[in-house]
Amino acid sequence: MPGFELFGAEEQKEVQDVLDNGVLMRYGFDPMRKGHHKALELERDLADRMQSKYAQVVSSGTAALTVALASAGIGSGDEVIMPTFTFVASFEAILSVGAIPILCDIDDTLTLDPRAVKECITDKTKAVMPVHMCGSMADLSALKNICDTHNLVLLEDACQAIGATYAGKPLGSYGDLGCFSFDYVKTVTCGEGGGIITNSEIYADRAHKYQDHGHDHIGSDRGAETHPFLGYNYRLSELHAAVGIAQLRKLDDVLAIQEKNYSILRNALSNIPEVTFRKVPDTGIESYAFLSIFLPTEDLARNTHKALGAHGVDACFYWYDNNWHYYKKWDHLIAQKSLSKLSQEIQTGLQQNNRSFDPSDVWMGRTISCLIKLNWTEEEVTERASKMVEAIKSVLTKSKSVL
Ligand SMILES: *Cc1c(COP(=O)(O)O)cnc(C)c1O
Repeated sequence: MPGFELFGAEEQKEVQDVLDNGVLMRYGFDPMRKGHHKALELERDLADRMQSKYAQVVSSGTAALTVALASAGIGSGDEVIMPTFTFVASFEAILSVGAIPILCDIDDTLTLDPRAVKECITDKTKAVMPVHMCGSMADLSALKNICDTHNLVLLEDACQAIGATYAGKPLGSYGDLGCFSFDYVKTVTCGEGGGIITNSEIYADRAHKYQDHGHDHIGSDRGAETHPFLGYNYRLSELHAAVGIAQLRKLDDVLAIQEKNYSILRNALSNIPEVTFRKVPDTGIESYAFLSIFLPTEDLARNTHKALGAHGVDACFYWYDNNWHYYKKWDHLIAQKSLSKLSQEIQTGLQQNNRSFDPSDVWMGRTISCLIKLNWTEEEVTERASKMVEAIKSVLTKSKSVL
């Protein structure tokens, strides 16, 4: 997955353009910038690559989610449905606009279970936020039906699955809004950064203003601009955008490498009947950023994860015990540990999350995800595949001998 594996002369050239003229900010300073508008160029490229009318780049993936929510008019006391398996940024962004994150069960797609989403809807629900974890996706058509029926915003977090598609569309472009992260460990990186895509002129217009203090961006005198509404600063710098331009151009090459490496590993594991694979919804094509497998039981998954490490297979994750990505370790959210007073609405609303999520536990307890790297040689991937098979078989054989 990490684009930093392919950092090189292309990124350096784009950054050099910015260093040559010294304009590090995306707005203003037109006479000095010698025609270079890196953030704007990245937005054009992103909209184009993601087959969307509009793109807005911002300072992080978390900022992208925040600006997307704000642009959709989501705020104080509104409920946003999000999965139990995601990165902490999901609830951080929701809380930052004053809304309430409502945790909801996942299924074997490893993201929102549409049936569970229906149960989570209340009269306060304003949006559903599927998080396309680890290179694959939620059942978007089922979620869209639910959103259409209940008049909810569908906001896709595609931070970990850039380049994957659903129903022939790039992930992020199917819902009302889609978000990407360009942080240092993502498939496309610019150090820190994020992007929002949408086909809604209204959301796009609000997003570009909101991420820059509410500036209207009319005319050529920044100091004279008016502020049609309150905003904030989530701008991306020209230096970061420059790196992003070169990285985004590499996306299709990255996807091809990921698919090749993923397929070698998956083919090898397919010969083990006890190993099954994460469900990819019909019409979905993964970005192949990770290979996620299910073992028959939680014990076997935990032992397999250990055995993989012991066999020298790095970068495999057992999310169930992970601090960042699964609700079981989000004590600070459940206990409402905040530096300042949370609003009464958030305090009350968050209590809905103080429950068990057994269907999520059943799937996550059995899941192991392995990162697909770009710099592996074919020999290294083949060797990795045999080590994975060896590690998994050692655990399965041991468990059978116990029975
Ligand atoms: C990385 C990530 C984010 C946040 O992105 P940052 O750029 O690190 O703020 C949000 N959601 C998911 C699923 C992520 O993996």
